[in-house]
Amino acid sequence: MTSLDDLPLRDDLRGHTPYGAPQLDVPYALNTNENPYPPSEALVKALGEAVMDVAGTLNRYPDRDAVALRGDLAAFLNADTPGIGLTAGRVWAANGSNEILQQILLAFGGAGRTALGFEPSYSMHPVITGVTGTRWINASRDADFGLEPARAIEAVEEHRPDVVFLTSPNNPTGTALPLEAIEAVLRAAPGMVVVDEAYGEFRRRETPSALTLLDGNPRLIVTRTMSKAFAMAGTRLGYLAADPAVLDALLLVRLPYHLSAVTQAVARTALAHGEELLGGVGALRRERDGLVAWLRAEGFRVADSDANFVLFGTFPDRRKVWENLLERGVLIREVGPPEWLRVTIGAPGEMAAFRTALLQSRGGTTPHTPRTDFAGNSKESL
Ligand SMILES: *Cc1c(COP(=O)(O)O)cnc(C)c1O
Repeated sequence: MTSLDDLPLRDDLRGHTPYGAPQLDVPYALNTNENPYPPSEALVKALGEAVMDVAGTLNRYPDRDAVALRGDLAAFLNADTPGIGLTAGRVWAANGSNEILQQILLAFGGAGRTALGFEPSYSMHPVITGVTGTRWINASRDADFGLEPARAIEAVEEHRPDVVFLTSPNNPTGTALPLEAIEAVLRAAPGMVVVDEAYGEFRRRETPSALTLLDGNPRLIVTRTMSKAFAMAGTRLGYLAADPAVLDALLLVRLPYHLSAVTQAVARTALAHGEELLGGVGALRRERDGLVAWLRAEGFRVADSDANFVLFGTFPDRRKVWENLLERGVLIREVGPPEWLRVTIGAPGEMAAFRTALLQSRGGTTPHTPRTDFAGNSKESL
């Protein structure tokens, strides 16, 4: 039997493990931050018709530049964040925002270059960085998972990275960044600044999007995805907004015809039904806030969340709690700082199952700071 060790694999990939959030067939899958609400019957029909419409042209390559889709995405962003006036010329799309991130690193990272992120954050940022031959620099977030502008500037000035990643709301902590932190990094950074807004639609109303900073900041890239709030993870459609010059750079590294005709048709149909697809976001936000309050009342530590998941703890043996939950049919994610777990917000029935299973699973791991909020204040004093 040939093993990987026998193959002339790149030295810098030896010993790496592939991305592997478990895909298990369980009653309650609360581990990958998907939107729990599937498309309606009417939308399923519309999606099927859109695929039918392009099926007869599949002997031909698709629109290489996906112009119509990019126009639809620009219109969606303009509605999401009024006043930004985006056009197709400032929006780019790819197979999931992971491919968007890879294209960014292929164009602006690479051998001899560096990318810096503030951890704990999205685990794929360092992975994609490494795969493109870019060196990863791990700076850290504050103890409350926020990012003080002064600390961010210090890290950027010390390392002078070619690419900086800021994730807001952050995965796995849920923390949103104030615009001041993003502006501070933009001023200090010598290279590109990527604000990963995969969970942007879930943010609180008072948290502005980094899209509002695009004008006058040609080194800023804001990435989004249809996988999370937009309830289309299976479609694989991610996108970005940036200066047109950034798109010129990405055209140098993207594969020709990277977005299939089927993907483009399905994504455009989904965008035309955006109101329906995003219809669950309000309920998911309320469910999230309810879960945070419940967890705190039960004595857990909980990070404030602007996303569709909640990071909670702390557990001396989180693996045991994760396993106990799985035994009860509830799959959550073992990710982030060592004593914490992340649960995705699902439909009310799923969250009820999670709460019941968690109370049965926490045995022997009673949080050591009961009745306190994340910052360590007693609840009574809040
Ligand atoms: C889920 C996620 C993505 C990528 O999602 P795609 O499905 O590839 O669009 C990117 N960034 C963060 C922070 C995520 O959590």
